[in-house]
Amino acid sequence: MQRTIKEILKPIAYPIFSAYYRLEEKLPSNKRDLSKDEYGKCSVCGLYTRFWYNKIIDTGSKIVVSCGFDKIFTEVINITNSLHCKFCLSKYRVRCAATSLLNNIYGGKFKNINELIKLIEKKNVNLGILETSSTDGIFTGYDNLNNVIKSEYFDDVKWGEYKNKIRSENLQALIFEDNSIDIVVALDVFEHVAEPMVAFSEVHRVLKTNGIAIITVPIDDRIEKTSALASVVNGMIEFHRDPAYHSDPLREEGALVFTEFGMDIVNNLKAAGYNITLGGYTTKKSKSKQYVLVLKK
Ligand SMILES: [Zn+2]
Repeated sequence: MQRTIKEILKPIAYPIFSAYYRLEEKLPSNKRDLSKDEYGKCSVCGLYTRFWYNKIIDTGSKIVVSCGFDKIFTEVINITNSLHCKFCLSKYRVRCAATSLLNNIYGGKFKNINELIKLIEKKNVNLGILETSSTDGIFTGYDNLNNVIKSEYFDDVKWGEYKNKIRSENLQALIFEDNSIDIVVALDVFEHVAEPMVAFSEVHRVLKTNGIAIITVPIDDRIEKTSALASVVNGMIEFHRDPAYHSDPLREEGALVFTEFGMDIVNNLKAAGYNITLGGYTTKKSKSKQYVLVLKK
């Protein structure tokens, strides 16, 4: 079998260009659209980089977004879930969340997550961070940080215990003391929680006074009222509309969407005791908006 030059060189080049190869594996060329790539500084790794666009979803795909499909929201999802930094692979949503976090800590003096990590490591600062996902988060690319706990909702691990250094946590009943965490990060997690307002008050409970939570959920700003697509009744899932799933690296069947959030999320979170700012980010080329909720206790 004839091997291409690329295949022959790959084992040699892999250590040097590993991020590039991982990106190429992640984004098959038929999903790429070079005309939508963007350039700029990455708020995670701090490098000047190219952001790779790829089409995550097409209308008709099995994995659907909570509000079904229309052209506008499909493009929002494609933008926010791609534009991967070619160095650290962070997607657009993650960088918007990273920017929101950095703007709200240490008087905004850190311009990227790399700088923040260096401070944490060198000065051994006492900063407790909980990121409620181990993939596609702000701290995903950083391992073995004492200050950062990464968690997942594991079906097979007791709450509070670890699997592969990832802690098993249920956002509706966190195994943390009151007032014990400085920063909570949850990117596109809350739409998969059966009772999101219970989880929001759990986050409020565990946050220290002046602590902050950086939250993203899919928000279609044309929708005013939050509604439940499904709920848990007597331990069974009851569907109020057609089931919707988002892709989930841990579950082949995807993660069930319980809630479609509307713009009333801001007032709902104020009522839950948070001081809240809703940031809306757009890229240079697209008007598709990524919202980031900054919740302060
Ligand atoms: Zn980067």
